[in-house]
Amino acid sequence: MRYRQLGKTGLRVSVIGFGAIKLPQISVEEATRVLNLALDLGINFIDTARGYRDSETKIGIALKDRRDEFYLATKTHSRDEDGAMKDIKTSLRELQTDYIDILQLHTVSSKEEYRKVMSPGGALQALKKARQKGLIGHIGITIHRDLDVMRWAIESGEFETIMLAYSPIDPEGVEREGILKLAKEYGLGVIIMKPLSGGQLVMPETEMGKQVGNDPIVRGCLRYILSNDAVSTVIPGMKRIEEVKENVSVAEMPIPMTEEEKRDLFKLIGSLGKSFRYGQTCLRCGYCLPCPQGIPIPEVFRAYDAYLNYPDEVKEVGLKIYASLEVKPDVCIECRECVTKCPAGIDIPTRLKEAAEVLERALGQLRS
Ligand code: SF4
Ligand code: SF4
Repeated sequence: MRYRQLGKTGLRVSVIGFGAIKLPQISVEEATRVLNLALDLGINFIDTARGYRDSETKIGIALKDRRDEFYLATKTHSRDEDGAMKDIKTSLRELQTDYIDILQLHTVSSKEEYRKVMSPGGALQALKKARQKGLIGHIGITIHRDLDVMRWAIESGEFETIMLAYSPIDPEGVEREGILKLAKEYGLGVIIMKPLSGGQLVMPETEMGKQVGNDPIVRGCLRYILSNDAVSTVIPGMKRIEEVKENVSVAEMPIPMTEEEKRDLFKLIGSLGKSFRYGQTCLRCGYCLPCPQGIPIPEVFRAYDAYLNYPDEVKEVGLKIYASLEVKPDVCIECRECVTKCPAGIDIPTRLKEAAEVLERALGQLRS
C-alpha cells in the first residue's frame, strides 16, 4: 500500500480508501469479512455517511476492536446546527467509537445549500463545536457539479478536505476547470469519489465472464486518478473480497501512468461505445487535437452534451461554453484527421455539424 498526506489534516491515508456506500447491500458477516480484509491489506481510510443506511452500523460492528488501525470519515446531510449535532451523536453511537477523524457536510451542491450550511445556525457550526469538544478531528465537505461552490468552499478556509467526483472522463470538470489544482494550492486533502463514474467504467460482463478482480478499466481508472498529485486518496465502493484485492493491487502498480498507458485506457473506455453520465459521449481526452482549423473539438462536445442532457436550469451552461468559443465548428473542412485519432469512434465532423446547428439555433432564440 502507498500512503499520502490528506492535505492540512496531516493524516497519512492509504491511496486506496474504502468507500462504504455499498455495505447496505451485504450482510453483517460479509461486511465484517470485507472490512477486515481491507485493513489487513493496508487500507487505513474508511469513508461512510449517515445517509448510507446501515453502513455506519456495520462498520461499528465489524471494526470496533480495530478502531486505532484506521481513519474514519462520515458525513451529515443536515443543513442546520441542531440536526448536524444530532447526526454526529448518532454516527458516534452507530460506529461504536468516541471519535470521528473527519466529519463532512454531505452533497452541498448548490449555492443555496452552501449559504445555508455556512450561515449562523447552519450545519458548519455544529461541526466546529464538535471539533472543539474533541468528538471529531477535522471538517470536510462533499460537492457535486457546482464548480462555483467548490471554489468558494476551498477558498473559505473552513474545510480541511473536499470530496469530489472524478474519473478519466471527468464528468463534472474538476480537473479541466482547475478545481483539483486549486484544492491542492489551498492545502486541502482531496478525496475522490465515483472513480468509475458510478460503475459505468468497467469492462462488459461478457468479456470478463463472472470474474471480478481483473478489470483493466477499473485498475486503469484508479491509476489514472492517482496519477494526479492533487489527489490524496480514492474511495471506490467495495462489497466483495475480489474488489478489495483488485483495488489494493493498484497501489502496487507504477504511478503515475505513462502517456501511452493513458491513451490505451481511453481506447478501452472508447471501445465500450457508451454514453456516460449526463449523456457524455466524448471522453474529453483531447487526442483529436490539434485540428488544422483550430476547432476546440472537446469543448464543442462539452457544450453540446451539457445543452442536450443537463436539466433545464443548467442547459445555459452549455450555451455559455459554446458562445465563448473563439473558433466555431462551422469552419470544419471535413478532412477527418481527427476521426482516425478518436478512441470513442465518434464521427466528429458530423457531430460537430449537428452541435453547431442545435446550439446556434438555441442561441438565436435566446437573443430574439
Ligand atoms: S474533420 Fe473538421 S474537426 Fe476534424 S480535424 Fe478536420 S477540420 Fe478539424
Ligand atoms: S472527440 Fe474523441 S478524441 Fe476528441 S476529445 Fe472526444 S473522445 Fe477524445
